[in-house]
Amino acid sequence: MPTADKLAYDRLPYPKVIVVGGGFAGLQVVKGLANTPYKVMLLDRQNHHCFQPLLYQVATASLSADSIAHPFRRTVGPMRNVAFRMANVLAIHAKEKQVETDHGLLDYDILILATGTHTNFFGLRSCEEEAMQLKTISQALDIRSDFLQEFETAIYLLDEKEQRHFLNFVIVGGGPTGVELAGALAEIKKSVLRQEYREVDSSQMHIALIDGNDHVLGAFFPKSSANALKYLKQLGVDVRLGRRATGFADGELLLDNGDRISTNTVIWAAGVTGASIPGLEEGMDARAGRYKVDAFNRVEGHPEVYAIGDIALMTADPAYPHGHPQLAQVAVQQGRRLVKNLKRLAKGEEAEPFAYHHKGSMAVIGRYRAVVDIGTYSFGGFFAWLLWMFVHVMQLVDFRNRIMVLLNWGWKYLSWRNTIRLIIRPYMRKPTMKAAMEEAR
Ligand SMILES: Cc1cc2nc3c(=O)[nH]c(=O)nc-3n(C[C@H](O)[C@H](O)[C@H](O)COP(=O)(O)OP(=O)(O)OC[C@H]3O[C@@H](n4cnc5c(N)ncnc54)[C@H](O)[C@@H]3O)c2cc1C
Repeated sequence: MPTADKLAYDRLPYPKVIVVGGGFAGLQVVKGLANTPYKVMLLDRQNHHCFQPLLYQVATASLSADSIAHPFRRTVGPMRNVAFRMANVLAIHAKEKQVETDHGLLDYDILILATGTHTNFFGLRSCEEEAMQLKTISQALDIRSDFLQEFETAIYLLDEKEQRHFLNFVIVGGGPTGVELAGALAEIKKSVLRQEYREVDSSQMHIALIDGNDHVLGAFFPKSSANALKYLKQLGVDVRLGRRATGFADGELLLDNGDRISTNTVIWAAGVTGASIPGLEEGMDARAGRYKVDAFNRVEGHPEVYAIGDIALMTADPAYPHGHPQLAQVAVQQGRRLVKNLKRLAKGEEAEPFAYHHKGSMAVIGRYRAVVDIGTYSFGGFFAWLLWMFVHVMQLVDFRNRIMVLLNWGWKYLSWRNTIRLIIRPYMRKPTMKAAMEEAR
């Protein structure tokens, strides 16, 4: 902001709204409160919004990182009553109505928590140290670098067993992220590894998908789960259902039936827990790590604090007595409802309760195959894949992102190549990472 503009923002006589987190939920609030009688400060530890449903495509070299990310300053630039600070929020001091960030304290009149989730390792320390995660752009780039580095390493190895160790990719968690990653890696085996790493026998590459349930895509209709399993098997993915990972030791992932999988790459997509911030413990559901909210998304015991999106646990919606699923659509709809309610409150009107309208679920499994649940219908195959592409492109934040994604996909699907395969920032090898963690402890 130029100085005059900054002063104008500072002097706005409106209630101060702090929004923590610019994901799907927080961004809706920020956009909706532009040019309203609220003075809004968006805080996020990243400087960009990330379209998480397409992260796996960055991780598997189909999309470039900047095609699914959007800088916050570009969004808030034209909004005179909205400012952005890149900051990590460390604590909430509810009595003082302040948030503590790594850059100091900030006052609020209204606090909106939209911090989403982080990966849940269910207390498996060895897996946390070894496994890769997929929640942010930089983690997606790590996975991309990692699988390319494994290929480059495998070329030098003469011992087949050793080579297999580097070409074994294990994904833990058979939800949409795990299934989509497994499908995309299987495609890479068929195209990139076979065509361009000719020194390696591509049949040595093995992709295992582990899930504790007896089906993949547990939240989908049974028909879609069955279709997804069928597509994964057609792609050669080794799907192990009813199995849980119990730890990682000596280069092997351990399973609850005693099986051990020798691998250099475990990707953990088995669960999430709320990214809560210390300070509102009495308003938390400790097991889920989510803030307990009423039908208006107010955190229990704190009428001036709202929680929306993945971090919110609302049991007041009669259709979802155990809370809403942690999905982008819920986050978007809660953000929009909250904006409407804040506008109503500003006019002296009463707020209206939130009700979620589920529009459907979809997941893609490799090229030309997807599964879609809409209403009471479910279908799979090529048409589902086309619909998946259309819906995801339309949901991206701006026109530039959409064009970039369409160009990348167009090239990929016509050329049968994942072209975005630069190891720009090599992934830090595990022993180094382990040592760094030990040092930090
Ligand atoms: C790989 C992957 C694939 C997915 N696929 C789908 C899908 O296909 N369909 C679907 O509906 N959903 C999908 N989801 C889930 C969906 O992305 C989430 O439900 C959605 O992002 C939740 O939005 P949110 O705004 O609550 O949180 P998020 O989008 O996670 O945003 C949280 C923001 O808060 C910031 N933040 C967190 N803590 C702090 C802090 N202390 N200080 C400052 N900033 C902080 C983060 O940097 C982030 O920007 C997927 C998720 C992942 C990870």
